[in-house]
Amino acid sequence: MSCIFCKIAAKEMKSNVVYESGDVIAFDDIAPQAPVHVVIIPKEHALNMTALNGNVQGEIFKAISQVSKLKKVQDSGFRVIINNGKDAGQAVEHLHFHLLGGRRLAWPPG
Ligand code: AMP
Ligand code: ZN
Repeated sequence: MSCIFCKIAAKEMKSNVVYESGDVIAFDDIAPQAPVHVVIIPKEHALNMTALNGNVQGEIFKAISQVSKLKKVQDSGFRVIINNGKDAGQAVEHLHFHLLGGRRLAWPPG
């Protein structure tokens, strides 16, 4: 298995896990772009949104909500980003949701 996010999900690679449920895991981004920067992933490998098993979608939404509360940005605000594919700059080929917050975020993104 060469996918780093699969390794994190399997606990074969170290990460700072902040939330976990049956099919989803969330951990602090290794190169945070904001005071709060969490990566939320389905544990089962999926390249992108198209490949995502539909049964996991609800769990991902729950994870987003829970992580925003755990990181105390549910009231101040936060942003969720999916870099899906080449034009969006997806670097890790395992679908992931960035949750960013803790500072004022610029809009629109570049
Ligand atoms: P993307 O450009 O959307 O593919 O984002 C990939 C994200 O994964 C980047 O924000 C990286 O900093 C983050 N990342 C890469 N490797 C790790 C790791 N081992 N632990 C935590 N975050 C990581
Ligand atoms: Zn993977």
